[in-house]
Amino acid sequence: MLVNVSEILSSEGKTANRTAALEMTSFQSGLGDFPIKEKSPVELVFANTGKGKASVKGSAVLVFETRCDRCLRSVDTRLELVFDREITAPDAEPSPEADPEEESFFMEGFQFDVEAFVYHEILLSWPMKILCRQDCKGICMKCGKDLNEGECGCDTFVPDPRMAAIKDIFERNKEV
Ligand SMILES: [Zn+2]
Ligand SMILES: [Zn+2]
Repeated sequence: MLVNVSEILSSEGKTANRTAALEMTSFQSGLGDFPIKEKSPVELVFANTGKGKASVKGSAVLVFETRCDRCLRSVDTRLELVFDREITAPDAEPSPEADPEEESFFMEGFQFDVEAFVYHEILLSWPMKILCRQDCKGICMKCGKDLNEGECGCDTFVPDPRMAAIKDIFERNKEV
């Protein structure tokens, strides 16, 4: 959806609320293609903040179909996006806070592109790591077994230094 923001940008004190249904069905990035399972409407509040300037605030909730980075099990990733950005009119003096490169993602002249804006917000809040649970054991590097379901018996044993110390005590006692 495109929102014409020329009036908001040119009328001092003007505010406008918009609710947009998100069209995108998946989030595609360098990391992969993640289908969107659930999406709330995008709530937006535009408010003029001066000559040729406005703030865009709002929110949206999205649930993506993703996979655990360690065990590849499918997990839902829920993003609760909260927006707070500045936009400027194409003919306005660029404000020092505004990032023209960032704005070019979703501003086309006086048209505010909701899809492009939300895409950009998802990109900024995408998690560094997606885990099915914080202590996911991952898969065995040797046989590929999901280690959350139990040990696989592969020789990947790393001796626990505490156990090794106790074993030493036992062996020493035996010798006495
Ligand atoms: Zn996992
Ligand atoms: Zn294994």
